[in-house]
Amino acid sequence: MQNFDVVVVGAGPGGYVAAIRCAQLGLSTACVESWINDEGKPALGGTCLNVGCIPSKALLDSSHQYAHIKHEAGEHGIAVSGVSIDVNKMVARKEKIVSTLTTGIAGLFRKNKVEWLQGHGRLLPDNQIEVTPVGEGSTEKSIVSARHIIIATGSVPAKIPPASIDQDKIVDSTGALAFNQAPRTLGVIGAGVIGLELGSVWKRLGSEVIILEALDEFLPVCDRQIAHEAWKTLQKQGLDIRLGAKVTGTGTNNQQVIITYEDKDGKHQINVDKLIVAVGRKPNTEGLGAKEAGLALDERGFILVDEHCQTNLPNVYAIGDVVRGPMLAHKASEEGVAVAERITGKASQMNYEIIPWVIYTWPEIAWVGKTEQQLKDAGIEYRSGAFPFAASGRARAMGETGGMVKILGDAATDRILGVHIIGPNASELIAEAVLAMEFDGSTEDIARTIHAHPTLAEAMHEAALAVDGRPIHI
Ligand code: FAD
Ligand code: NAD
Repeated sequence: MQNFDVVVVGAGPGGYVAAIRCAQLGLSTACVESWINDEGKPALGGTCLNVGCIPSKALLDSSHQYAHIKHEAGEHGIAVSGVSIDVNKMVARKEKIVSTLTTGIAGLFRKNKVEWLQGHGRLLPDNQIEVTPVGEGSTEKSIVSARHIIIATGSVPAKIPPASIDQDKIVDSTGALAFNQAPRTLGVIGAGVIGLELGSVWKRLGSEVIILEALDEFLPVCDRQIAHEAWKTLQKQGLDIRLGAKVTGTGTNNQQVIITYEDKDGKHQINVDKLIVAVGRKPNTEGLGAKEAGLALDERGFILVDEHCQTNLPNVYAIGDVVRGPMLAHKASEEGVAVAERITGKASQMNYEIIPWVIYTWPEIAWVGKTEQQLKDAGIEYRSGAFPFAASGRARAMGETGGMVKILGDAATDRILGVHIIGPNASELIAEAVLAMEFDGSTEDIARTIHAHPTLAEAMHEAALAVDGRPIHI
């Protein structure tokens, strides 16, 4: 039996980062991964690289460029005609990006001497793990032992009874990344992150998109003012988002999906060519042997961990989507680093208060920290400053004048409590706010920081000045 200092189960952004960090710290490390890609080959990178963050952003970028050339080039005096999209080529480009990056992780494993155990991992007693090979040419099971185990088995799409996935007409997010043409009509169940991102991709490529959302409120995770701005902008782009819509059933015929739903106005039926079900994700512990091993799960199936990602079993940790907290790649990776460092006696700790979120619609939506509503609910006194991109010289030059930066600071101490952006490149702009908050910065710190001109980041500067009632350009 092979023995390792650490065995990581799962090689998504949680598991592969944890494995590399463990190896960097001198621990003998193996990573068990069962992913088989569309070509039938084993692959590292998990949901994020294979069917999540990276492929969705590749399609978002391609579709954004297409829409930009088609609808906005004229404004710059650029005359274009005969613009067309080859969806198969666009999807092939996405797949090439995925394979380059997942192969890259295999290279990083070799460089760091992380042993990749290809197969499905199952917990056994006494810190042992059974590895069952998967895919073609599978061989016999093996058992390895480890001083420490890190579980990073991620999540899978949640299902709802009225819409069962066939990955042809009714698809989950994975199927929605692989359409070979833009459906004429596309239904989406769920106006969350995936529904809005993938709905945007296919809308830009010509689909008529209807999004059915069960809640009455749009993007409840966002600051209300930002959600309101997003609602107006996405509606203007032609996304037909219907709130308070309870899907009661779906059926398919040769051509279409028939969806029935109810809202405050009664019962409705719509027919669409394809339907994406994007109603959240659930933790993945399938075949892990959690129950037999005595690993404690919560009522929703997440592995129970303390603030250091320690499970109820000695020397067994769990990180990423399979534990509490936001299901985000960077949260999974940072938990992986923190666990690796704690195993080697370092005092590493995650700051769960300062995890940035980004929704990659256009304009992008990004935030960190508390929303105004959360501050009000908690009775925290705050001051707020906002700056619209319409008043930014750089945004004007780019023709991207929608949206704003909004900063919330503690009324007594001026400490930054939350930053909320909707606008061009919000995904990049939020990093300044995250760093400022990590350093316990104040809105005055951002206000006193010299920002290059002309940049979109000046909107952050002006929003910070606005907290103190002294913006220059509004
Ligand atoms: P995963 O990435 O799910 O990896 C888990 C791995 O464990 C998988 O490879 C699986 O095969 C393997 N595994 C499971 N069980 C076993 C077992 N028993 N034995 C061996 N291997 C096993 N997040 C962002 O931060 N930004 C984004 O832009 C973003 N976009 C997304 C877009 C889409 C369409 C989707 C679906 C998700 C997106 N996410 C995004 C979420 C992000 O993908 C997840 O938060 C992240 O992948 C979680 O990482 P993880 O390592 O915990 O799990
Ligand atoms: P989500 O939780 O963001 O949104 C799901 C939406 O579906 C919610 O608004 C919910 O109210 C709605 N819903 C649930 N059941 C429904 C029903 N029966 N009928 C109609 N609506 C229903 O989940 P998601 O969009 O599936 O994404 C899953 C997770 O993946 C995200 O929460 C996020 O953690 C991660 N993700 C992140 C990014 C990013 O960081 N940019 C991108 C994609 C996914």
